[in-house]
Amino acid sequence: MRVFTMIINGQPVRAESTFDVINPATGEPFAQVQAGNATHVDAAVAAARAAFPGWSALPATERKRLLHEIGAIIEANMPELMELVTKESGKPLGGLNGIGSGMEVGGAIAWTHATADLELPVEVIQDNDDARVEVHRKPLGVVASITPWNWPLMIAIWHVIPALRAGNTVVMKPASSTPTATLRFVELANTILPPGVLNIITGESGVGSAIAKHPGIDKIVFTGSTPTGRSIMQNAAANLKRLTLELGGNDAGIVLPDVDPKAIAPKLFGVGFHNNGQTCACLKRLYVHDSIYDDVVAELARIAGETVVDDGLAEGAQLGPVQNKAQLNFVRELVEDAKEQGARIVAGGKVKAGAGFFFEPTVIADAKDGMRVVDEEQFGPVLPVIRYTDVDDAIRRANDNENGLGGSIWSNDRAKAAELALRLECGTAWINEHGALQPNAPFGGVKQSGLGVEFGSYGLAEYTSIQTLKIMKR
Ligand code: NAP
Repeated sequence: MRVFTMIINGQPVRAESTFDVINPATGEPFAQVQAGNATHVDAAVAAARAAFPGWSALPATERKRLLHEIGAIIEANMPELMELVTKESGKPLGGLNGIGSGMEVGGAIAWTHATADLELPVEVIQDNDDARVEVHRKPLGVVASITPWNWPLMIAIWHVIPALRAGNTVVMKPASSTPTATLRFVELANTILPPGVLNIITGESGVGSAIAKHPGIDKIVFTGSTPTGRSIMQNAAANLKRLTLELGGNDAGIVLPDVDPKAIAPKLFGVGFHNNGQTCACLKRLYVHDSIYDDVVAELARIAGETVVDDGLAEGAQLGPVQNKAQLNFVRELVEDAKEQGARIVAGGKVKAGAGFFFEPTVIADAKDGMRVVDEEQFGPVLPVIRYTDVDDAIRRANDNENGLGGSIWSNDRAKAAELALRLECGTAWINEHGALQPNAPFGGVKQSGLGVEFGSYGLAEYTSIQTLKIMKR
């Protein structure tokens, strides 16, 4: 079995013991990683601090050049990285609508190059006879990245590349159930970067909170659940770490009566079910106007029944297993609860027999606000469809949730849809689309979905502090 090491100061590091990484398609281990602890966190932070003066002093053009080299080395190793992503996360190589590990690694490459090219120029806010006032952006120091299991490599890239581009050094901690693609990425990147610039620690309980508390870390970028985000915020208070928190979502979509149910259903299904619904900004609650409700539900159920669920390495698999057993049980619990509350399961609804953590793609009709499957983030292959008659009421119900990551309006009247979308309480609103991200558009949550944004110059700025320079002229 392949054994991965941590990387600290450019060197492979072993801990006293290892733990298994499970392939959710088989339920069997396929790799082992190091069970690091707080001592390793200390060593990684020390290496990152030592590397910071040299890395931050490099000309921006040099950092850019090295980051483009990292993009190229990811591309050169794409098949291996795709296989690791599929084995650890369960997502198919190809996947529903092409959303699988090929897209994850391809996205990692694209985001690396696009982020390498971002600029944060000096801003001149006054230049007159009295004084010149400039706003400079400076790196923060050591940034820690803590990532979740749903898009392990892509999210690692979203954290690390802007941190490095801005001149920071980095300590990473991947999710314990999906560390392998990230470990391999860091190993590859360390053939390009100076030692200590990019370090990675693995370890189950305690490593994340040791990072959050560490006085030698200046900022944490975290993607994961809202409760963990709160814990990080509490621990980070000791030395006022800067924070970007990308947390849970329970995104609503509202379908207006003017759409053609047959035409729109495949798109709705895709944005709700890709990666088995295990995407922060998947469509998780679907509000459909009463006049087309039955037709939309029937089409969604038909598509769910035709979807190919298989081991992600198998050709033709559209959806793979749920990533871990606890999540599988949680999804099953929400579906059972919905049934007991009077909802109708019109497709799927059950764990698939056999090895692995497979759950049938599940469409729930007659779902209502107040049911757990509507109010809570399912993070699984389940879509509750809720009936509405008055669009103002649908907007109110969509907003009546503690999360505020994304939302969408589906209509042929784009102007009306845009007006409604601006009333949704969320960080990104889409018209006739959901969850589509791009490297130049800011993305982040409001309410309990997080703090700050990623991507583009807005995202890059979060890895810097401002220094104002005032040059007197009189
Ligand atoms: P999670 O349980 O919060 O874990 C995320 C990471 O935090 C893992 O690396 C985990 O390590 C670590 N961690 C756990 N406890 C910690 C602590 N007390 N202090 C510091 N770190 C700690 O989240 P998940 O279940 O992996 O991910 C699913 C969630 O992520 C969903 O809610 C989803 O919506 C959200 N998400 C949000 C976005 C976004 O952009 N807003 C994107 C993707 C996912 P271990 O694995 O070792 O426990």
